[in-house]
Amino acid sequence: MRGLRLGAACAVISAAAVFATTGWWPWRRMPTPVAAPVAARPVAPAAIEILDTLRRGETVSELFARHGVVDLDLSGLDPALSLDPRRLRSGLVFSFRATAPDTLPARISVRTTPEQRVVFHRAPDGWSAVVEPIAWSAEPVRIEGAIDNSLYEALDAQVPDDQLDGADRQRLAWDLADVYAWQVDFTRDIQPGDRFQVVFERLVSEDGEVRFGRVLASDLTMSGKSLTAFRFEGDGRPAFYDAEGNSLRRAFLRAPVQFRRISSTFARARFHPVLGITRRHEGTDYAASPGTPVMAAGDGVVLRAGRAGGYGNLVELRHRNGITTRYGHLRGFARGIRAGARVGQGQTIGYVGSTGLASGPHLHYEFRLNGVAKDARRVDLGNGAPIREGVRADFRQERDRLLELLRPARRNTTDEDAPRSIAQQPAETPARWLP
Ligand SMILES: [Zn+2]
Repeated sequence: MRGLRLGAACAVISAAAVFATTGWWPWRRMPTPVAAPVAARPVAPAAIEILDTLRRGETVSELFARHGVVDLDLSGLDPALSLDPRRLRSGLVFSFRATAPDTLPARISVRTTPEQRVVFHRAPDGWSAVVEPIAWSAEPVRIEGAIDNSLYEALDAQVPDDQLDGADRQRLAWDLADVYAWQVDFTRDIQPGDRFQVVFERLVSEDGEVRFGRVLASDLTMSGKSLTAFRFEGDGRPAFYDAEGNSLRRAFLRAPVQFRRISSTFARARFHPVLGITRRHEGTDYAASPGTPVMAAGDGVVLRAGRAGGYGNLVELRHRNGITTRYGHLRGFARGIRAGARVGQGQTIGYVGSTGLASGPHLHYEFRLNGVAKDARRVDLGNGAPIREGVRADFRQERDRLLELLRPARRNTTDEDAPRSIAQQPAETPARWLP
């Protein structure tokens, strides 16, 4: 009992010290790692634990030497430990534990990834190392709200900091945008009054850390139209389906710019249509910083890739059913993009620029059917492929489970699987883990 309590106290002190030292979790990148060793703290009558951070430009051997450890050679370790000393980055936090009266550490541990910790033990004949997996448990969380400006802001407003940090809230927004990449152009389509409901997994480690897992189900109501999505792994590959089991995937993406790369503006403001709308404008313009990757909207073959008058650097793709797409004002082309080359949906074909008649960096995108320009965002892309017959029953079962999480009004409130509504339970995270 006493040992347990000491262990818990030790864990709390360690966690507090990690926060005190780094201000962040060990595996995150930090702009300026705090390198000073913290003062030794007694964690038990007989044990001393010291946390220290790998400094920029420092080798692990130098860090070890600072604690009197000169006989531990990482380069001789089993590669399965994935602790290549040349690839360890600054900011990693090492824990050194010594047992009094011995002042030399007998145990050193480091979190190398969110999923594992490498632990070294000192024995009379040298050091041994083991990998300890970190267990994460997933809990479903449901949020909903109005999208007034951007998806990120809407999610940001619904998820408190102590539930998911800012970076994870952005991941949630990006992942949700990816779910609807064939239905919604989030840089433009959002209207006041649009709403979202999302059930996602929040992962909690045995050490109490929290991070975003994955989107499980969602519902977007955009311009009065409801778009529901359910995550399902039918053949080992996860994908999203509507309630009838039709894939959300379509032959064309709604927006051929990498959303994640334009997110600095996405995060705080809506995306503004560009600039110099010309008399005979036949496409959609996406303002984005120069160099932002441009993706093939669908599978196809490159018709041309080169200079083309006012388009500047232009890629034109030919797709099935008389459809062609054009991508203009590119700064340059992706490797291998030349006439005759095959491209797949989502493949990078070039980079945003301002070549040709462009008053600023943007992508000019055209969707043409039999040579006639169409509004790419309004083109009917048909129905998604239905889920394979053999897994249809499994899908329905999973859909019904997710639907209960997504629509709490329908659910039995005593259900163990009921998602936690974080708006209603703001204090569920143990405060001891929070910086
Ligand atoms: Zn344009």
